[in-house]
Amino acid sequence: MTKEEKNREYKRKYYEKNKEDCIERARLWSIENRERDRSNKRRSYEKNYEKNLEHRRIWQAANRGKYLELKKASYQKNIDTYKKWYQDHIRERVEYNKQYRKDNKEQIELYQKIYRDNNKESRNAYNREYYIKNRESEIKRSAIYSKSKKGRLVKQVCDNKRRGAEGSFTTEDIKNLYATQGARCYYCSISIEEGYHIEHMAPISKGGSNWIDNICLACVQCNLSKHDKTAEEFLACSFN
Ligand SMILES: [Zn+2]
Repeated sequence: MTKEEKNREYKRKYYEKNKEDCIERARLWSIENRERDRSNKRRSYEKNYEKNLEHRRIWQAANRGKYLELKKASYQKNIDTYKKWYQDHIRERVEYNKQYRKDNKEQIELYQKIYRDNNKESRNAYNREYYIKNRESEIKRSAIYSKSKKGRLVKQVCDNKRRGAEGSFTTEDIKNLYATQGARCYYCSISIEEGYHIEHMAPISKGGSNWIDNICLACVQCNLSKHDKTAEEFLACSFN
């Protein structure tokens, strides 16, 4: 045994014999030396941060139920502080969350999909119940939504899925297409900022698909006058 080890062993034995006394003396010392006590604790916290973190992780994994219980209890105990802090930092939080969602988009979408798949039935039941309880306001909300830009787009995407042709596209695809076309009609180049139709260049009735490479965005006029011509046929008879 080295000298240091002997020393430590001696201290440990002394502590065990005089435990209460030691604790009381330490308590008094920390009251009398508040600043030094704090800086000691801080230094030790920083020095052992990694080690403690690892210990905590191991303990939390082994005592998951208890950990969650403690976490919940602590949250309940400090709920007012948390709420106040949140209110005081609400702008930063909103910004932070926005950025976080942007940086972790794929991961979040994956989690959401897994959650949706695992909770299909309970979600449907909940949605049904919610709809029945809030029928009036839901009808109003959905009327407003279906007239909005996003609502119209989502409806068109869904309609096209339902039409039974092969392939599908997403609202994201349409947004990209909108940018690629520079917010102009595919056929006549007029601005489509006010609104556009999702157009199948080869019509579904003629075996065209729903894949995004068969889709373009057209102004209302072009879309309505194209009928079931292919893009080539329409361009040939309208602009030559
Ligand atoms: Zn047009």
